[in-house]
Amino acid sequence: MDANLYSLFESRFPKDRGAPLLILEEGRRVSYAEAEATSARYAAFLTGLGLVPGDRVAVQTEKSAEALLLYLACLRAGFVYLPLNTAYQEGEVGYFLGNAQPRAVISQPRSLGSTQALCAQHDIRNLFVLDEDGGGSFTAAARSAPETFKTVERKPDDLAAILYTSGTTGRSKGAMISHRNLASNADVLHRYWGFGPTDVLVHMLPLFHVHGLFVACHCVLMNGTAMRFHSKFDAARALADFKESTVFMGVPTFYTRLLAEGGLDRDACSNMRLFISGSAPLLAETHAEFERRTGQRILERYGMTETGMLTSNPLEGERRAGTVGFPLPGTEVRVVDDTGHGCKPGDIGHIQVRGPNVLSGYWRLPEKNKEEFTADGYFKTGDVGTFSKDGYLSIVGRSKDLIITGGYNVYPKEVELALDELPGVQESAVVGVPHPDFGEAVTAVVVAKPGAKPVESELIGALKQRLANFKVPKRVHVVDELPRNTMGKVQKNVLRDRYSGE
Ligand code: ATP
Ligand code: MG
Repeated sequence: MDANLYSLFESRFPKDRGAPLLILEEGRRVSYAEAEATSARYAAFLTGLGLVPGDRVAVQTEKSAEALLLYLACLRAGFVYLPLNTAYQEGEVGYFLGNAQPRAVISQPRSLGSTQALCAQHDIRNLFVLDEDGGGSFTAAARSAPETFKTVERKPDDLAAILYTSGTTGRSKGAMISHRNLASNADVLHRYWGFGPTDVLVHMLPLFHVHGLFVACHCVLMNGTAMRFHSKFDAARALADFKESTVFMGVPTFYTRLLAEGGLDRDACSNMRLFISGSAPLLAETHAEFERRTGQRILERYGMTETGMLTSNPLEGERRAGTVGFPLPGTEVRVVDDTGHGCKPGDIGHIQVRGPNVLSGYWRLPEKNKEEFTADGYFKTGDVGTFSKDGYLSIVGRSKDLIITGGYNVYPKEVELALDELPGVQESAVVGVPHPDFGEAVTAVVVAKPGAKPVESELIGALKQRLANFKVPKRVHVVDELPRNTMGKVQKNVLRDRYSGE
């Protein structure tokens, strides 16, 4: 049976192919008919260049309708789609091209020069630019290709994409994602979150990451409805869109920025049925403030590049702040101790997962593949967490961020939660930095609330009342903002480097 993800989407497209898939900022609409025709042309054009199923196509372009249609084209032609963060610089792109060895590269105008040189170096002969105005671009070159294309049959384990992880904990790894991985997750998600014929999604996430591409777009493609498609997050535009949409997906920083924008209230959100957050922890304060203003509770979920979505708070029933909800149907999630034995509810351990959505391995990293899977086929997420007695999972942090100080384990999150409750503290991040006596010293970095001036000695004094001594930071640095990557994740390695040796 054909397991091509595109064929699954196609079976869910609306009968009226004139219905919109994308509603763009400038008011232009891209119908399902146009999506079919354009993705056919792109697939035919790339195939005409001599690319064959299984070849990688690297795409580093600004977000646009064409970029999404290019993804659909790659699925149709059986190419392995390889999106790259638009913020990557020459050296980073060089690493990915060398690692993945794509047959074609579609780039953005502003990095064309450096990409040209990299393609020459890696003997990649097909380089195009995806831009709006044509001129020597992919769009122009593909213009005369036929508008019909027979979608290539795929087997479930054939690769659909190589998706590089966010690089929060070190060098990004290429997760090998199959058609089965994506299809199973897309099917579960759009049903779990109750997608139906009247749903319109506000899409402001990037397309190079699991969240924007596989979670957001796939829910819509499985549902055969429309999304309001923006090049990037914009709080004012989001608020305007909420009047005519039903679902929003964001990272926590989107929510804090929405709260900072005037006009977020019940009335502005009265048409919306669902706000979803993920990719990084949502602060309890954001959760509470959003509910106070809008009357709606954000649904938090948890997932990763390698696995797609793993857990979600329920659509109906309690959405518990500080948790990421229950394992999604078909996904097994367990919490184990250092020796691999299952933990009791309430005990903290390593999160491991198994299911049809979990990657087969990392691209060209055989040693990693041995390390990251258990003998019984569970993938080690690298996250630590705990299940409550009634089955809600909480993420405590990443095992790499665990601090061992004087022989004691300190989970940064526990210290961060205590810090966040102190007056004058907006948010915090806690890391371990090398220390001659303790091995690592607990070090906190704090952002002050507007107008507040927290004092290091006072914060440390207050924490001593709340935490065991070994958990209390040796130093607290007050900064203007925490370093974050494009997905809004705090870059703890940057903080560790910055404060090491102090
Ligand atoms: P790298 O693996 O390269 O270090 P990364 O893990 O940040 O980068 P992603 O796959 O984008 O790359 O992110 C997945 C991670 O994001 C998860 O393993 C988890 O640590 C974190 N995460 C995702 N959703 C949540 C959430 N709701 N709450 C807390 N953490 C989350
Ligand atoms: Mg990761």
